[in-house]
Amino acid sequence: MKKGKVFVISGPSGVGKGTLCHELMRKYPSLAQTTVSVTTRAPRPGETEGKHYYFRSEAEFDKMLKEGLFLETVDKFTHRYGTLFSEVEQVLDGGKNVILEIEMIGGANVKKHIPEAVLIFILPPTLEALTARITGRGSETESEIRLRQAQVEKEFDQAAPYEYFVVNDVLDDAVENVKAIIVAEGLKDALSDVKQNYFGRD
Ligand code: 5GP
Repeated sequence: MKKGKVFVISGPSGVGKGTLCHELMRKYPSLAQTTVSVTTRAPRPGETEGKHYYFRSEAEFDKMLKEGLFLETVDKFTHRYGTLFSEVEQVLDGGKNVILEIEMIGGANVKKHIPEAVLIFILPPTLEALTARITGRGSETESEIRLRQAQVEKEFDQAAPYEYFVVNDVLDDAVENVKAIIVAEGLKDALSDVKQNYFGRD
């Protein structure tokens, strides 16, 4: 059985990557599987344990970190997030692709551990469209908007290891483009493995 691959999906906040992943999974459930991360933040209304996150205390998170259970972790705002090795391995062992919807520092760390991981960066159609979306249309001052744009620019500076860039303007187009990346990556193979399959030798 061919092993699945790890796909990281990241992008600036407000770009709609959560919706994109959700739609991708809804349309193409056999293409890949998302994982559940651990977080120290409190559940939001409607979020459930084991579905949206594993919600853990700081002490529990520390203990899991010491036990080496995380592929990567990140401190964002006042909270911590982490991807469990077990979650990723479970999907890969089943021959499926994994989608990690995580922020950019996490993506770079995944690439260090798993060099063959494929990193996809989701872009807004324009910087203005993104800022308008996160600032809630006209309620922010000019200087607040500039501050937001500077934050987004900083995020772009961390995107060096990302190799695919998908613009999320029309959701359905973005979903099809991410699907195309996953399908194409699945067709990559080593000639020696192909020959092994056909002729029993490399
Ligand atoms: P939220 O608190 O809104 O659910 O997520 C905040 C940010 O943390 C999002 O950008 C999300 O992609 C990211 N995130 C969620 N889980 C993980 C994780 O396990 N690792 C990393 N690095 N980022 C995560």
